Amino acid sequence: MKRDFATLQSQHFDLLVCGGGIYGAWTAYDAALRGLKVVIVEQGDWASSTSSASSKLIHGGLRYLETYDLKLVSKSLKERKMLLQAAPHRVWPLRFGVPVYAQQRMNRLQLKLGLKLYDFLAGDSDPQMHHSYLNPKQFTEHFPCLNEQALKGGFTYADAQTDDARLVLELIAGALNAGASCINYCKLAQLLENNGKANGAVIEDQLTQTEQKISARQIVFTTGQWLAKEMQSREWCHLAKGIHLVMPAVLDDEALLLTAKSDGRVFFMIPWYGLTLLGTTDTDFKGNVEQVAVDELDIDYLLAAANNYLKTPWKKSDIIGHFAGVRVFKQNTPPHHPAHPLRSVVIGK
Ligand SMILES: Cc1cc2nc3c(=O)[nH]c(=O)nc-3n(C[C@H](O)[C@H](O)[C@H](O)COP(=O)(O)OP(=O)(O)OC[C@H]3O[C@@H](n4cnc5c(N)ncnc54)[C@H](O)[C@@H]3O)c2cc1C
Repeated sequence: MKRDFATLQSQHFDLLVCGGGIYGAWTAYDAALRGLKVVIVEQGDWASSTSSASSKLIHGGLRYLETYDLKLVSKSLKERKMLLQAAPHRVWPLRFGVPVYAQQRMNRLQLKLGLKLYDFLAGDSDPQMHHSYLNPKQFTEHFPCLNEQALKGGFTYADAQTDDARLVLELIAGALNAGASCINYCKLAQLLENNGKANGAVIEDQLTQTEQKISARQIVFTTGQWLAKEMQSREWCHLAKGIHLVMPAVLDDEALLLTAKSDGRVFFMIPWYGLTLLGTTDTDFKGNVEQVAVDELDIDYLLAAANNYLKTPWKKSDIIGHFAGVRVFKQNTPPHHPAHPLRSVVIGK
């Protein structure tokens, strides 16, 4: 990928996008395809923050049916369908198992109704994308890693998986192809204004420490958790941290949606490049946005949640890797609820 900081000198752009995670990458790609003259800058590497630390799912959000957020689920399922069709090499179907145990919070009938509604909202005619019921023996054959005690059976349903970082890289490559200037290791250091309106920025090459000015008609901030550092957005930003552990392989090609016994939260075990992704947590984050890390409490919580279900419990020494990310929400909305994400701020006219 050609990275040419020097060519930006004194150029005028229709759109400057600040932040090279998934939102910045899509924005730059979309705008460049529409014929706008676009530049996107990213202070680190592409997708180096939350956009490479997600659960890697393209999902409708089955759990939001519990809060009757049908509009959100329906919209997400439409986007899932579009991505499965437009980028089958990057977004692929993934089936999830949901075990039914005696005395669990949600019974078989409730799960059946939820999954029927999920299929209906997805509107997919392909039977491969519909849910199905498995008796205890069939369910155990699909997921031999699970404890069979008190297992009443279970469902499987379809969602989709991606490689989040590669998806961002592909969009950046697409933006470049469509004529955008895409510069990583380049920080937006200062906004330039004219009559109180932002009309450009000072950008700083992180490799050479050189600076230059560029002008832009519109500036979009897709800076994720860095929004919480800005005066304008600090008031309404709520941050929630989520971590994942990379664990040994225990699944074939199907994932599991499980409920943590300690607090009733949903978590996933997902097949991931021959290993298992276990996550996520969801805790308030008030620390330094540049230093988001996995801590012992996160690890204890996830291992305990998984070990409630596993035939052979995992130990800390089984952990192969881990990563943490931060979600941004409007203040006063529940942390796990993505209905009102404030991921970008447009400045200028
Ligand atoms: C634990 C967890 C699991 C998740 N799972 C899923 C999932 O399965 N599916 C799903 O769809 N979503 C999921 N999400 C949500 C999704 O990951 C986020 O919504 C998304 O990654 C946010 O992308 P972003 O582009 O807004 O932010 P980021 O990826 O954080 O990108 C912002 C970028 O801005 C850059 N930046 C900041 N300041 C500057 C500056 N001054 N100059 C230049 N660059 C700057 C940063 O370096 C950073 O790379 C999950 C989130 C979390 C935390």
